[in-house]
Amino acid sequence: MNDFELRQSIIDHCIRMNASGLNQGTSGNISVRAGDMMLITPSATPYEKLRPQDIAAMPIDHDYGNWEGPLKPSTEWPFHLDIMRARPEVGAVVHTHSTFATILSIARKEIPACHYMIAAFGGSNIRCASFARYGTKELSEAAVEALEGRKACLLANHGMITLGPTLDKAMWLAVELETLAKQYYHSLLIGGPVLLSDAEIAETMKGFATYGLQDPKPAGTAKAAVKSRKKQSG
Ligand SMILES: [Zn+2]
Repeated sequence: MNDFELRQSIIDHCIRMNASGLNQGTSGNISVRAGDMMLITPSATPYEKLRPQDIAAMPIDHDYGNWEGPLKPSTEWPFHLDIMRARPEVGAVVHTHSTFATILSIARKEIPACHYMIAAFGGSNIRCASFARYGTKELSEAAVEALEGRKACLLANHGMITLGPTLDKAMWLAVELETLAKQYYHSLLIGGPVLLSDAEIAETMKGFATYGLQDPKPAGTAKAAVKSRKKQSG
């Protein structure tokens, strides 16, 4: 996707995120890696009014906090940027205040291995980051820590974050996380879940690999493998 298409896909996903009930108003935000820049939704602008040129751009590895565009980036830009800096495999970050994930974050409950789909997030739990005010460096540090080895976390008394190699994948995980949060919440009302073991989660992760539910290999890996095979045969 070129720069314009990436910007348009951010807008399309924002509109879809609200239409599906995953997000309300402009509380959610989305960022996408575009080379050495991060594209991010602007602050407090109704998604229907957004044009591709309104999406803010921020350098990832230099000039921390600088931005380009007619509108200020989302106030949550620090954690979007710090996640992109800490996790080179991440191509997109989705943040929402989706209802059930937020309810669990208010109770400061992490999500345990109550359903095998938790394996899609990289392990047997989804942590809840400690509380810090929105838009702060403290919140960003808490989020990066809670995301270690995972593709999602809850943010205490706030909402949730999901990550993916692409925006489609990060958005798919956002829908899965809200579903998981809803299922876990309701299981607590009928006596609490029976949890899966670490071995059962590890087994599920292996299965996901064959169903293509895991991340694609980093760009270049497949080509390099083909090249080295060619070399061997030639
Ligand atoms: Zn938020």
